[in-house]
Amino acid sequence: MECTKCGRDAVMHAAYSGSHLCEEHLRESVERRVRRRVREDDLVPRSATPEDPETWVIGLSGGKDSVVLTHILDETFAEDPRIEMIALTIHEGIEGYRDESVSACEELATELEMQHELVSYEEEFGVRMDDVVEDDPENMAACAYCGVFRRDLLSKYAEELGADKLLTGHNLDDEAQTALMNVLEGDVSQIAKHFDASLGAFDERSEQEEFVPRAKPLRDVPEKEVALYAHLADLPAHITECPHSSEAYRGEIQELLLKLEENHPGTRHSIMAGYEELAGIVADEYQGSDEEADLNECEECGATTTREKCRKCALLDSLAAV
Ligand code: SF4
Repeated sequence: MECTKCGRDAVMHAAYSGSHLCEEHLRESVERRVRRRVREDDLVPRSATPEDPETWVIGLSGGKDSVVLTHILDETFAEDPRIEMIALTIHEGIEGYRDESVSACEELATELEMQHELVSYEEEFGVRMDDVVEDDPENMAACAYCGVFRRDLLSKYAEELGADKLLTGHNLDDEAQTALMNVLEGDVSQIAKHFDASLGAFDERSEQEEFVPRAKPLRDVPEKEVALYAHLADLPAHITECPHSSEAYRGEIQELLLKLEENHPGTRHSIMAGYEELAGIVADEYQGSDEEADLNECEECGATTTREKCRKCALLDSLAAV
């Protein structure tokens, strides 16, 4: 097949748009969508100046998504004195998995000359995910513990590093999966929270209010295109799957969406367009309603929570009791 734009050999076919793209035009197209999202979400405020720059903390796991995001943001803003970028990596304590991806993060950060911070569950909480999986006092999936701990550290360090925004590498597939899961689970509060998720007060699927607004500039780009971009640009991404990956329900939704996308190209885009509109309506209804939970300070760590003790502290207490 030939590239729709220039006639060279195509490396991919995007059925949802009908285009075939060569290497150069695929890379250009991915970069354009990220930059457009940065613009449309107003990630660079007018108030940002070289004297008072905007600080972005980028969640860098070493996987293809965060590596591609960091690379494109660096290509776009490294020379912009209004923007300062810091990469933040969380080490969960997973033997044979996270060490390799941390190396990928270090390689990229060194190459880009970007400040890089590494924090671990072990240093912060005294636990490693390998041990959490063994003990499992709450009898739940590894990712349920891991997600709570990761969100806590991302928020805490984004704040400590003086971030104006916390940027993460969620792609279009991740976002469409989450949207569909929230709808199928009837999770109205999470749908409402999505309204602000692009630059909002809440982290999706989290009970905690976010003090540092979050952004997902990669959220218009399908996962396959992100993977292809990482490969073509020869980025140091770590591709191996986590041995504790346990989100069975998300896996089912992922398969369903891939099948739907194959038979009905554009499904992920239309889910997100509809979901964002729905989230706006639900958020209006939800704000100020009786269902909106009161926010308290966690009695142990002071984090904002809807309970007396935040979920992270409750999980750590139950792990300590094993
Ligand atoms: Fe943690 Fe699950 Fe991700 Fe593994 S797959 S790093 S356990 S959230």
